[in-house]
Amino acid sequence: MNTGNFTDNPKSRAIFLDRDGTLIEEVNFLSRVADLRFFPFTIQAINLLKNSGFLIIVLTNQSGIGRKIFEEKAMHEIHAEIQYRLRDKIDAFYFCPHPPDENCACRKPSLAMIETACADFTIDLENSWMIGDKAIDVETGFNAGTKTALVLTGYGQKDVAKLQKKPDLIAENLLEAVKTITNYEQIRHSNS
Ligand SMILES: [Mg+2]
Ligand SMILES: [Zn+2]
Repeated sequence: MNTGNFTDNPKSRAIFLDRDGTLIEEVNFLSRVADLRFFPFTIQAINLLKNSGFLIIVLTNQSGIGRKIFEEKAMHEIHAEIQYRLRDKIDAFYFCPHPPDENCACRKPSLAMIETACADFTIDLENSWMIGDKAIDVETGFNAGTKTALVLTGYGQKDVAKLQKKPDLIAENLLEAVKTITNYEQIRHSNS
């Protein structure tokens, strides 16, 4: 807990979190609450992050909206259900609805979603993390100047071969990543 040693740094550390394959199970173009599946460790991982004082910010590419596979409303229903099951522990969701060929500014690994988050919250990017199951998630973190973690759930096993640069962490799943990150933070703070 922040006990006042950091009063000259009022910025929050954030976990930028990919949704599909990282926070929840990968379902191709998830569009129905009935198909939403938490991992067995999802709730524990989020609780651990929250108790460690991180902002939790979901960044998700949802090109199914731009491709007219499902409506934006369907995605918002899924996010509302995620929040309900996590007792509102996600601080914000940002999404990109565009197909890849639109070359928008928000689709990961572009930075518009993180830039919007930084306008909405006061974030210490250097001490924040981007966690995801795809090489583009890791790249997003590199582009933003955060620490980076790849999880081996979702596309992780496949995408580990696509990494251009080594992330700070490769973890079996979100809970293992979070355990490492929160221990890491404790060690860092006790040494400072
Ligand atoms: Mg993903
Ligand atoms: Zn976009």
